[in-house]
Amino acid sequence: MDNIATRLDAVHARIEAACGQALRPSSSVALLAVSKTFGADAVEDAFVAGQTRFGENYIQEAVQKISALRHLPIEWHCIGPIQSNKTRLVAEHFDWVHTVDRLKIAQRLSEQRPANLPPMQVCIQVNVDGSPTKSGVGPDEALALAQAVAKLPNLRLRGLMCIPEPASDFAAECLVFKRARGLFDALNAAGLGLDTLSMGMSGDLEAAIASGSTMVRVGSAIFGARHYAAAESPAS
Ligand SMILES: *Cc1c(COP(=O)(O)O)cnc(C)c1O
Repeated sequence: MDNIATRLDAVHARIEAACGQALRPSSSVALLAVSKTFGADAVEDAFVAGQTRFGENYIQEAVQKISALRHLPIEWHCIGPIQSNKTRLVAEHFDWVHTVDRLKIAQRLSEQRPANLPPMQVCIQVNVDGSPTKSGVGPDEALALAQAVAKLPNLRLRGLMCIPEPASDFAAECLVFKRARGLFDALNAAGLGLDTLSMGMSGDLEAAIASGSTMVRVGSAIFGARHYAAAESPAS
């Protein structure tokens, strides 16, 4: 049976191959290991294998893991939807947030960020494929939101994040990812100084890297298939 270290190696090999295809240095794409539904022991296994950046979707579950692994220098990224009543937990426990899609959430994160911590690193989630059920700001509103978020004192705006609907093939995946890259470039042309474009998962990281992703969020290819508790099943 293959273990987490072996799967992590395989993901690094995929990232390197995709970067090679795109004539990009492999150092231009960071790997975020998505550990939702997996325990602190799995995170620790991946950490021992060299992985230091982890993404979590469910705030309560994440806070338990973060507390249990306090002894390890892990960078924690919040990649799940954030309700207003959860912003304090996020502000107190995470290093990054990828899922800011309205100013109110950003304002609360800035106000609630503890003074002894560095600024929260923030990406704005963009709904690039116009899917009506998805969170994320519309592409037309991204610049205004980015400009407002960039002014908040305890946040540092780093970039954009997107989660497109699964597409039929590589070309279709690239079409949507390139729209996100175009928006990222447009915001930088407007002077925002972004360095992070968070897109690509286990199934589509090659298309994301071909389209200009700088951070891929990979879960099942590292940790295996997820088993959701009934209460949090996305299909329920
Ligand atoms: C679960 C999740 C991932 C990882 O998905 P895999 O297909 O397991 O790689 C990435 N991004 C977000 C926002 C997720 O919720």
